[in-house]
Amino acid sequence: QFADALKSIARREDFKAYIGQNPLIYRILRRAAAQYVTGDRRIHGLEAADRLQAKGYAVSLEYIGENTANEEECKAAVSELLALIGDLRERGTPARVSFDLSHIGLSLDTELAAAHLLTLAETALQAGIELFISMEESAKTDKILSVYEGAAARYPNIGITLQAYLHRTAEDLSTKLPASARVRIVKGAYQEADGVSIPRSEALDDRYLELVELAVRQGNRVSVATHDERLIEKIIDQGWYGKPEVEFEMLYGIRPDLSGKLKAAGHPVRIYLTYGHEWYLYLCHRVAEYPPNIYRAIAAMINE
Ligand code: FAD
Repeated sequence: QFADALKSIARREDFKAYIGQNPLIYRILRRAAAQYVTGDRRIHGLEAADRLQAKGYAVSLEYIGENTANEEECKAAVSELLALIGDLRERGTPARVSFDLSHIGLSLDTELAAAHLLTLAETALQAGIELFISMEESAKTDKILSVYEGAAARYPNIGITLQAYLHRTAEDLSTKLPASARVRIVKGAYQEADGVSIPRSEALDDRYLELVELAVRQGNRVSVATHDERLIEKIIDQGWYGKPEVEFEMLYGIRPDLSGKLKAAGHPVRIYLTYGHEWYLYLCHRVAEYPPNIYRAIAAMINE
């Protein structure tokens, strides 16, 4: 409930206006977000990507946004993503580009999101860039998967995120992905109704492991996207990890000690970077999924 309340405040237009009109509040919140977001502008994401790649990490890049409310803003988001792909191509940065389908139209019209995805996929294919679709609330899962399936049938450079906490995911994984498709497996970040998902627990960790195994056996290329050290150790013990088609992926600013340790041990690690003016939305997601982050945010504010 705390998570949902925080996210719904962050989505409110009056909240955006309030922080826009209050330079002090803006600066304080911006400082709290700095741990998780590379900056407001594309160049901040690109420079962070270069720094991490120089250290031996692969990267994903997200231009932050979700649930875009009108067609014009969806088109603006697509333009930004096309510019990002263009810049990555020019700089020779082999980053993966990640986004929510609701950022490019899914909340307005499924066909609009599907058309935008095809535009992005074509440009990305020519640039040698991989696109990755994030997974949102379970109310959107069917739509997201159907848009993904339509585009992935034509474009091999599109991956999909699946949430281990949803009961439906094993079936989605075995029925909706083309052979050798890239899948990112996450625990899941949204508050869901009873009966749809399971909470953080050993049962969820077991399910996560089963999904990774299923994906590996199916021949999918897997991004194991978690910061859960115990789970990561179990995955390493299984021996799937170390195959070129399995990598670890972690969010920028979360457990950098762990990503560094894994990289030093020779495992492929990808860092998920974000940038954009809606950084406060991303900050709320990170605090909501791990409430102790509120203390870090407050400490950052006090130090301002
Ligand atoms: P948890 O059991 O939640 O956490 C394990 C440990 O990790 C914690 O004890 C803590 O030490 C650390 N940790 C976890 N989260 C945080 C945090 N926010 N701040 C500080 N420490 C933390 N979810 C979706 O629903 N859809 C998506 O498309 C999606 N994409 C993602 C992409 C990537 C690359 C990653 C890494 C995550 C993504 N998530 C997505 C979020 C995911 O679902 C989880 O909410 C998030 O990864 C936290 O879960 P965990 O697996 O790390 O395990």
